Amino acid sequence: MTFPRISGALAVALIATSPVLANHHKSFGYGADNGSEKWGQLDDKYALCESGDMQSPIDLAGANAIGNIVLTVNYQAGPLTVANKGLTVQADFAPGSTMTSGGMTFNLIQIHFHTPSEHAISGKRYPLTGHFVHATEDGKLGVLGVMFEEGAANAELAKILSAAPEEKSDPAMVTGQSIDPNGLLPADRSVYRYMGSLTTLDL
Ligand SMILES: [Zn+2]
Repeated sequence: MTFPRISGALAVALIATSPVLANHHKSFGYGADNGSEKWGQLDDKYALCESGDMQSPIDLAGANAIGNIVLTVNYQAGPLTVANKGLTVQADFAPGSTMTSGGMTFNLIQIHFHTPSEHAISGKRYPLTGHFVHATEDGKLGVLGVMFEEGAANAELAKILSAAPEEKSDPAMVTGQSIDPNGLLPADRSVYRYMGSLTTLDL
C-alpha cells in the first residue's frame, strides 16, 4: 500500500487570535461539488470563502501570508489514539509535545487530516493536509498545517490510517502502538502564517 509522503517544502502555520469554534459550516465538504474551492458558493454566509483573505480556504502564497516564520517544535513519541470523526481522521496526543511560535508555546492536542487540502499554495492544492491543532495554556489556538504529496509511504501516517475505523468512531487507543509526530513533519519547514477561523469543531 502506498501512502502520501510529506512534501519537502511546505508547512503552514494557522494562528488564530482566539478560539473561533462556531460550527456554522453545515454543508461544506471535500468533494467535487462541495470542496474548498466551492465553499464560497454553497451559502451566502460562506461568501467570505471566496472574497475574504482571512477565511478558509485561502491561497497561502497570497498577499497576507508571511514567509520565514520562526517555528520550533518539541514533539514526543506517545500512545496512538485514533478516531474517525466523520469528516476527518484524527489522532489525539497526550500532554508533553509543544510548538513555539511568536513567543508563545502551544501544546499539541490532536492531528487531523483533510483530503484534498483546504488551502492552496500558489494555486496548487495537495491531496492531503495534516492539521496539527495546538493550544496555549490560556486557550489560544495554533494550527500547523502540513501539505502532503503522493510518494513513498510515511511510517507515522500509515500507523494512523491503518488504525482508523471506516465508520465514525470515538477515540480509541491502539494497543502496543506509539506514534512520533516528528515523523509527520517535512525536513524543510517553509512556513506561511495567517489569522483565521476553523472549519472543524472537534478539539
Ligand atoms: Zn483542519
